[in-house]
Amino acid sequence: RVLVGTKVDESHANWVTAYNMLTGIRVSVSRTNAKLDRELTDADFDAKQKSTFDITGNELVPSAKYDFKFKDYAPWVFRRLRALFRLDPADYLVSLTGKYILSELGSPGKSGSFFYFSRDYKYIIKTIHHSEHKFLRKILKDYYTHVQDNPNSLLSQFYGLHRVKMPYGKKIHFVVMNNLFPPHRDIHTTFDLKGSTIGRDYREDDLAKNPRATLKDLNWLRRQQQLALGIQKKQLFLEQLQRDVVLLKRLQIMDYSLLVGIHDLSRGNEENLRDKTLQVFNPGGEKSAEDDPQSALLRTPSKLENVRKARELRQMIRQERPVPMGQALDKMPDELREGHSRPGFVFNQDDGGFRATHEDNSPAEEIYYLGVIDCLTHYGIIKKIEHFWKGLSSDRTQISALPPDEYGDRFYNFIEGITMSAEEGRREAQRKDQE
Ligand code: ATP
Ligand code: CA
Ligand code: CA
Repeated sequence: RVLVGTKVDESHANWVTAYNMLTGIRVSVSRTNAKLDRELTDADFDAKQKSTFDITGNELVPSAKYDFKFKDYAPWVFRRLRALFRLDPADYLVSLTGKYILSELGSPGKSGSFFYFSRDYKYIIKTIHHSEHKFLRKILKDYYTHVQDNPNSLLSQFYGLHRVKMPYGKKIHFVVMNNLFPPHRDIHTTFDLKGSTIGRDYREDDLAKNPRATLKDLNWLRRQQQLALGIQKKQLFLEQLQRDVVLLKRLQIMDYSLLVGIHDLSRGNEENLRDKTLQVFNPGGEKSAEDDPQSALLRTPSKLENVRKARELRQMIRQERPVPMGQALDKMPDELREGHSRPGFVFNQDDGGFRATHEDNSPAEEIYYLGVIDCLTHYGIIKKIEHFWKGLSSDRTQISALPPDEYGDRFYNFIEGITMSAEEGRREAQRKDQE
């Protein structure tokens, strides 16, 4: 699974949808941010605000290129959540709408969800099923309280929940969340781990074709991989994971996974930062003349110009003025770098990630980028049916659809079992050999 996608520009089939998503976010988020902060009330968790966009606009909604309807759910709660996750309100809007370009991952999972990256790669927009949308609204208060009590939670960070509807189109629900992986570091290997073994295998022969593919539980076990954390970091990680899993079990959630991106410091970055930036901004692989780093360099505005543009844009967003289409904001590499170190968050302390350690807590050669993703599947009727049918043919405890308590225990135990320093791993292997 390739983690850079296709650039969504005006020639892209989903351009209008993407454009409307971003316009809706810009207008509704800046509207909420413009108000004085206040305490949340119970009503804030159920709130929704509808806007109708068209080419003329009115005093509440600026004119837009296309006709569409937009709904913003629990705007005050998400404003608070973004503050808890320490996002700068203006930067958030600049990242998402500074230039109306996303890159699309298409629909990588079985679920049919679409994934879009913001231009600077910091945020992901994921379209979600109506049932997931309803479920997130239902659990929003529990999620909010959990984030408040657990600033270092490993769960997906939700920054917004919205809906767009085009004339004669269907309703599209989506969330904005954190991209776990950094824009400035190559991720050499990615794993999506559930603690299940059935069907949890990526054909390693296909890796040559698709080196950025997401590997799974069986690949991890076959490679005798460890999440190499010494005593101190291991405890921090497992304690937080435990607390997160307790919440997921209580909310009857299942099917989530631990996403692990590994940056190998001994391999470093293949491309230098500028090339990487270009690759992220112009994903897709085939290089057109326009994507050529040399000509791109010529087009890149000076740093001073960027700073000026960014300031102007922030000003506009604060004043809720419509941002003109195609407003260029080419972030410079060092801005990208700064943007991704997140001081104060335990699992982002080492260059945006969590560096592997030896048993004595001294640093090892890898940086992990970690988080629990896809955590909006409620153990509802569909999963119960799946569990029944699959249970007839396979080992019941190994299939992925388990009741939430069993799912959570199996998930936690699996991760706990693979979290150990290299030294600990070697002793474990010796012990197994002797048995
Ligand atoms: P399914 O239900 O079939 O598992 P899905 O459409 O719900 O699929 P997810 O499991 O949420 O999709 O994500 C699919 C893949 O997208 C992940 O394995 C991972 O590679 C990537 N991905 C998802 N969320 C993130 C994130 N927050 N940061 C980085 N990558 C992500
Ligand atoms: Ca998944
Ligand atoms: Ca899913």
